[in-house]
Amino acid sequence: MDPKQMRPATLAAQAGGVIDMQSGGIVPPIQPSTTYARDRDYAQINPDNMYLRYHNDAVRQAESVLAGLEGGSAALLFPSGMAAIAALFRSVPNRGRVVVQSGIYWGTTLWIRSFCERREIVLCEVDASDGAALAEACAAAPAHLVFVETPSNPWMKSVDIAAAAQAAHGAGALLAVDSTAATPILSQPLSLGADIVMHSATKAINGHTAVLGGVLVARETTPVWEMILEDRGAAGAVMGPFEAWLLLRGMRTRPQRVKAMSANAMAVARFLDDHPAVETVLYPGLSGHPCHALAARQMSGGFGFLMSIVVRGGREAALRVAGRLDLFHRATSLGGVESLVEHRPTLEPQSGLPEGMLRLSVGIEDQRDLIADLAQALGQ
Ligand code: PLP
Repeated sequence: MDPKQMRPATLAAQAGGVIDMQSGGIVPPIQPSTTYARDRDYAQINPDNMYLRYHNDAVRQAESVLAGLEGGSAALLFPSGMAAIAALFRSVPNRGRVVVQSGIYWGTTLWIRSFCERREIVLCEVDASDGAALAEACAAAPAHLVFVETPSNPWMKSVDIAAAAQAAHGAGALLAVDSTAATPILSQPLSLGADIVMHSATKAINGHTAVLGGVLVARETTPVWEMILEDRGAAGAVMGPFEAWLLLRGMRTRPQRVKAMSANAMAVARFLDDHPAVETVLYPGLSGHPCHALAARQMSGGFGFLMSIVVRGGREAALRVAGRLDLFHRATSLGGVESLVEHRPTLEPQSGLPEGMLRLSVGIEDQRDLIADLAQALGQ
């Protein structure tokens, strides 16, 4: 079957349908060579491969699975999510203008602020979950790039992607969506009008907490995309073959993992929502969440594995709860098969998060065990 016709679970499980024709292996091999030979007439033995900074089969295979899952025409892997974001922003000219969602992953915010200052790029930060505010920021002046993250980390706000695309295009800008917390299984921003979708592949795309990676997927290959492609090869922000191979392997079970994690997260969110020690649960799957209706329209198959809660009693109470958890590992990051808890205000003290906030990344463990762990940690 042509991989283009495969449904997501099939495409992922078969790693894009690649079979190693030399050995017959149904799992693609890893080719770690940094360079590729030429024949006696000086022609490349494999015309697709010349040097590892540009060419590797496992990288291309993983990219083609990711492009297929997002419904894009091309994908580019990077050695981290931040390297993917940096590659995207490097396509903005000096003294250009960008509109960026506020309250997103703190590492992204900090890097974009510093990059824009160095390159004299006008940076407009706006709460993009407020459609009118985003439209106003886009209408204020022409822009090159609008960058949003939905659901956002750690506030769990949703952005209306179709409306954001309209606002961005009206300003002459591309819309890029960081869809890390949604994954291509629950949301396809390109089909809603986004031009580029970005993921930290470190998270649920790989899902096993053992690969650092990032990806950009383009709806169509525009001159900006060609610039990003050329810059990646020339500047060398490439993913190595071992990581690409691990990513391909991790992706085989991604639809099942993401659905199981989302179902667990929904059960955990409902439990926490009813708990007297918890002041607020931020999870778009809960009907009381301000973005629930939008998330229900924009996502399918679940609301993801990420949520934030505010524990009554502030910082000390939240750290006490985190310290009592047995199953949730106290660690940063998200999207792995094992559940994690993080006191985000410790990591980003300048960003104004409530001191009682804990971020949970819910894994694929039995949800009864996760809920029992939270119940004992919260003191019930
Ligand atoms: N985007 C989001 C939403 C993230 O949560 C992260 C990391 O936590 C990143 C981007 C950066 O990805 P990486 O750590 O792979 O560089």
